[in-house]
Amino acid sequence: MKAIILLGAPGSGKGTVAERVRDRCAYLHVSTGDMLRDAVKRGTETGRQAEGYMKRGELVPDAVINLLVDQRLDAGTPDAGYMFDGYPRTIQQADMLAASFSKRNGSIRKVFLLETPRDVLISRLTGRRTCRACGTCFHVVNIPPKRDGICDACGGALYQRPDDQEATIVNRLDVYMRQTESLIAFYEKQGLLMRINSNRQAEASAGEVVRAVQALD
Ligand SMILES: [Zn+2]
Repeated sequence: MKAIILLGAPGSGKGTVAERVRDRCAYLHVSTGDMLRDAVKRGTETGRQAEGYMKRGELVPDAVINLLVDQRLDAGTPDAGYMFDGYPRTIQQADMLAASFSKRNGSIRKVFLLETPRDVLISRLTGRRTCRACGTCFHVVNIPPKRDGICDACGGALYQRPDDQEATIVNRLDVYMRQTESLIAFYEKQGLLMRINSNRQAEASAGEVVRAVQALD
C-alpha cells in the first residue's frame, strides 16, 4: 500500500494535477471532502458523527476524519496506491496518516508541493467570473468569455461570487499558508517533499508531477 500527497493553495492548479495523476497513474484519488459527504449520505456511524459537527458549524475533529481514511484504506486492496488531496491539513493528521500506513506495511512515497507566488494566486482567484444562469466559470485573463460579462455557453450574465472577492481570497490564502507551513517542514525533514513550480499552465505542472509519480514505481 502506497500513497502520494498533493499540497497546493487554492488557485495553484491542484485540481488539474489531481485529475491527470488519477487518469495516468495507478493512484486512487482520495478527497476527505468527498468521503465526508459520502459517509453522511450513506448514513454510516462515522457519517452521523461527522454530520453532527457540520450541522453545528464546527470543524469535524481529526479523529473522525482519520476514521474515514482508515475505512477507505480497509476497503482497498493491499497493493493499492492512494493520492491524498486536501489531507492531511495538520501535523496531527499527518502523524495519524503515517501510522495508518505503517500498520498496513505501506508508506507515503512522495509529497508534492505546488508553489505559486501569492500575487499570482490572488490574481488567478479574483479574476474568476461565474455565470448566474448555468454556473460555468470564466477568468478575465486566462479564460475570457467571447463577449465581456456574457456566458459563452448560455448567454447568461457573469458575476464575481462573494467567495472570489479579494478580501475573502486573501483570508483563505493566509489560513492555508499558516496551516501548510508546518506540514512542509514535517515532510521536508523526512525527505519526502518535492517542490513543483506551478507558476505556469496547470498542464505543465501536472505533467511534471505525473512523470515523477511514474518514476516512483
Ligand atoms: Zn451560462
